[in-house]
Amino acid sequence: MFKSGTGRRWVKPWFQSLWELVYPSPEYCPFCHTGTVPEGLPGCRACIARINPSMHQLRLPRYQGFAVGYYHDYLQHLLYQIKYLNQYRPAVALGRLMALAAKEQPEFQAVDYFLPVPLHHERLLMRGFNQTEALVEGMNQVWPHRVCRAARHKPTAFQSGLPPKERIKNLRQAFMLADPAVVKGKKLLIIDDIFTTGATFYSLADLVHRYQGVPMGLFLAHSDS
Ligand SMILES: [Zn+2]
Repeated sequence: MFKSGTGRRWVKPWFQSLWELVYPSPEYCPFCHTGTVPEGLPGCRACIARINPSMHQLRLPRYQGFAVGYYHDYLQHLLYQIKYLNQYRPAVALGRLMALAAKEQPEFQAVDYFLPVPLHHERLLMRGFNQTEALVEGMNQVWPHRVCRAARHKPTAFQSGLPPKERIKNLRQAFMLADPAVVKGKKLLIIDDIFTTGATFYSLADLVHRYQGVPMGLFLAHSDS
């Protein structure tokens, strides 16, 4: 009734799926692609040790903010992969790492929304994805929250290379909230990859504050400048 060839084609995938069920192939690290990932961790132990996550409270004048680490060589390398080589998986894994580090922080216990810093659509087209959205996707895998979104009003010139005063001027009124009505009386955790001068953070935080929300910040890394 069955042709022998058909039977062989059917047996092979069946056998393979049973084999993979008994001996699952290891999940490779999204950062180094060679180490294997232990259950519940976002990367291999060696990479996590190199990233060295620990909560750093930033001394901000008006709002509370924390970074998960310094902007050191290895994080610089990973962010280069994400921003210039369009690597999505390490961004999501770094988001999981951020959530694992932040979810026990007492200041963050009553957070209502995550607010990823938006990218202008021209830069979104160049990169294909917004790295802060990818961080939030990873965060939501281990610490689920509703997401509040903002957009940019106008294309902002590239921030790097500008002096701090120019950065603030460049970002003034650069953002708008997708749904300002939901913000009132809520705690919003603004998510960004790097905190340097804080110009981007303050621009968005002041906007949340204007709509009577309580902004806080969570950054993957901060630099000493
Ligand atoms: Zn690794």
